[in-house]
Amino acid sequence: LMFGKARTCNIVTIPEHEPAECNIVVLGATGSGKSALTVKFLTKRFISEYDPNLEDTYSSEEIVDQQPVQVRVMDTADQDGPVNCERYLAWASAFLVVYSIDNKCSFEICQQYLEMVTPYTKGLQPESPIILLGNKVDMERYRQVSQTDGETLAARFGCTFFEVSACLDFPSVQHVFHEAVREARRE
Ligand code: GDP
Ligand code: MG
Repeated sequence: LMFGKARTCNIVTIPEHEPAECNIVVLGATGSGKSALTVKFLTKRFISEYDPNLEDTYSSEEIVDQQPVQVRVMDTADQDGPVNCERYLAWASAFLVVYSIDNKCSFEICQQYLEMVTPYTKGLQPESPIILLGNKVDMERYRQVSQTDGETLAARFGCTFFEVSACLDFPSVQHVFHEAVREARRE
């Protein structure tokens, strides 16, 4: 009986397919901190100088809720808001739309991204999640976008909202990326 039980257990736990994957595209105005956030998530470190024209995709094996997942992060570098969106729309399983809380203009550019991405994701089955992210909360003194403004914009487009800082603690940055994985799994 014991033997039978163990065998059943083994059969259940043998992975039947490749580990799960999640592709996260990071969008937003130049200077909002997309690269700093991406590097922080991948290395736990804050890199203050990063080539603003560099667009790259990184991969990291993560454990989210005890389940392994291959997370790929595309750190985009659009200069003037949404352009050539075809390169990531079909690729992405989750969208991270970033602005800087000390820059009203970067917040307005987020709105452009949401207006472009949302009609696309709404047509998907399942829908891909979108997270609106206010970065640089360490710059509170220079805040130009209130938390309420962020929440209101997120609610309008049906996305989750967070505020973080790429140069403060790692866990809250990690939480945002992991939340993107969770939401993509749920959909
Ligand atoms: P990107 O163009 O969106 O990739 O932005 P970067 O990651 O290159 O960051 C732009 C500038 O903002 C750089 O000088 C970063 O050091 C700075 N930066 C990024 N994140 C933060 C943050 O959370 N707080 C502060 N104070 N500066 C940040
Ligand atoms: Mg960058």
